[in-house]
Amino acid sequence: MGTFDGKRGLVLGVANRRSIAWAIAKRLAAEGAQLAFTYQGERIESTVRDLAESVESPLVTACDVRSDEDVARVFAEVGEAFGGELDLLVHSVAYAAAEDLEGRFTDTPRDRFWLALDVSAYSLVACARAAEPLMEAAGGGSIVTMTYLGGERAVPHYNVMGVAKAALDSSVKYLSWDLGAKGIRVNAISAGPVRTLAARSIAGFPTMEAIVEERSPLHRHIAADDVGAAAAYLLSDDARNVTGTTLYVDSGYHAMGM
Ligand code: NAD
Repeated sequence: MGTFDGKRGLVLGVANRRSIAWAIAKRLAAEGAQLAFTYQGERIESTVRDLAESVESPLVTACDVRSDEDVARVFAEVGEAFGGELDLLVHSVAYAAAEDLEGRFTDTPRDRFWLALDVSAYSLVACARAAEPLMEAAGGGSIVTMTYLGGERAVPHYNVMGVAKAALDSSVKYLSWDLGAKGIRVNAISAGPVRTLAARSIAGFPTMEAIVEERSPLHRHIAADDVGAAAAYLLSDDARNVTGTTLYVDSGYHAMGM
């Protein structure tokens, strides 16, 4: 018996096999979940289709989270694929222009500030709203998003992405309040540095890794599979009374003062 036998989920944010979203998806699928996937852009379509096929996904569809039409279509397709119900939602999507992840936060222009907030924070609100009727029909649901300490403290180079994560963290709390009455839980995982496509665009990424290794209580890096395990907990019924919170998977780094 798998933890997620009979559960149906949607995973946003797989770009390749290094993606945190893929580590989460693998774990959920191994424990019995049936998963639909979205991808952004034709460039990664075939990679995401191959990965999705390996876990017998019934639905792989395009979604640019900046588009209300895309979000509405995706959740309509998910409803069709899963008989009008959805139990699990994995939101593992973020974007900021590479030039805003180096240099000074102070110099972030207005349009790229809103772009980062739109893709990385508002998208959770849009997806949660679209998931709500499907999760209500399922008798409740669980939503997990991915955040980072740079939303709570100034992390050099993380810049506008940190501001977007602050908005995301707060959105988790407000969504958990709104949706709790329907048995829908909303939580975040704050991960330490993992070498993924998105991480590569952060100028100071190797420094972030080195500092975690030197100063975190466990003196080691985390792996994407560690995040998969944490997400499996938050998405499972074991976490039935956990909502509006952040689970840190960062070798304890967040606990340190210096
Ligand atoms: P990744 O590049 O594998 O995943 C990022 C995903 O966002 C990609 O699949 C990309 O297609 C998607 N995306 C970007 N713009 C989009 C748009 N407009 N519409 C739809 N999808 C879009 O990198 P990752 O590290 O796995 O990132 C996943 C999440 O984890 C992000 O929220 C990231 O901020 C967060 N996170 C990552 C780390 C890390 O060190 N890698 C640490 C903490 C938090």
